[in-house]
Amino acid sequence: MPAEMTRALMTATGTPLALGCAAIPTPGPGEILIRVAACGVCHSDLHIVDGDWGAPPKLPLVPGHEVVGAVVSHGAGVRGPAVGATVGVAWNGGACGHCRACLEGEETICAEAEGTGYSRDGGYADYIVARADFVVELPKDVNAARFAPVLCAGVTTYRGLKRAQLRPGAFVAVIGCGGLGQMAVQYARAMGYRPIAVDLDPAKLELATRLGAMAVVQAGSGDLPQQLKGIAGEAGLRAAIVVAPAPSAFTQAIAAISPGGAVIFIALPAKDRDSLPVSISALANFEKRLIGSNVGTRADLLEAVELALTAGILSEVETLPLAEANAALERLRQGGVPGRLVLTP
Ligand code: ZN
Ligand code: ZN
Repeated sequence: MPAEMTRALMTATGTPLALGCAAIPTPGPGEILIRVAACGVCHSDLHIVDGDWGAPPKLPLVPGHEVVGAVVSHGAGVRGPAVGATVGVAWNGGACGHCRACLEGEETICAEAEGTGYSRDGGYADYIVARADFVVELPKDVNAARFAPVLCAGVTTYRGLKRAQLRPGAFVAVIGCGGLGQMAVQYARAMGYRPIAVDLDPAKLELATRLGAMAVVQAGSGDLPQQLKGIAGEAGLRAAIVVAPAPSAFTQAIAAISPGGAVIFIALPAKDRDSLPVSISALANFEKRLIGSNVGTRADLLEAVELALTAGILSEVETLPLAEANAALERLRQGGVPGRLVLTP
């Protein structure tokens, strides 16, 4: 094994990542060293690099939290996965394990939750160290680049849909058809729902149709809540999963869902995300439900991976070498990327 690796390092917010060499990290107790095969570029990476979120990440930081790779070595006390196993590393990189949230199986809201590529170094590198108990084992022959987005975009949309507790056949609007939206469409289909894709970009809607959307609506082409209600008809729009980072998308989603329906809050707008006008009577009288959903627990991850493998859920991706990390982030910043950009060392 070489002694050094390449990695893209964030040293301050709002500055490009610095591509350079570093010593390959050593796994501590309970940790494993993984050779990265692919790492998806998530919109959250852009928010972290641009400093859009209130809480800053650890610095310096290697971003990236959609990682597929092979286990190279174990730290002390690790029982598995075995050296050589293919594993996935997700955002949920650690939790305390003993607080109330952890005991109730809600480790993503643990006060000590660790974020891969945020409070721990992530996968924009040749190697990554992860807590062994927080990785998921994958089949050896998995398509690393096309499967990597399951580790964030997939589990995040899966958990959101799961939390809405819908019946089979439910119409679900997927608002925003970028990396998360294309996963939401596929998970909605795999879970027995009828997804309606919404986006400004016709190319993204075309992709959503190929991935299983039953209908599409081009945002900005009319009154979105009315358009969605029209498609759902008497069955009603039972849920809307909002993965477009625009506050107006949430307002429209609340207006569009049927009584008893759910809006799943996932996207984090860069601006104006601390308040939202909402009709109290819509919630009280019509029992509309607003559901926050934050990535996923290890149990959600396992289910999301198993469902992806069973249903053949993969992401449409464009692979780029790790050296292009800044270019990939810039393309996300400009928008209009259909599918997911994935870095390969
Ligand atoms: Zn992500
Ligand atoms: Zn905890």
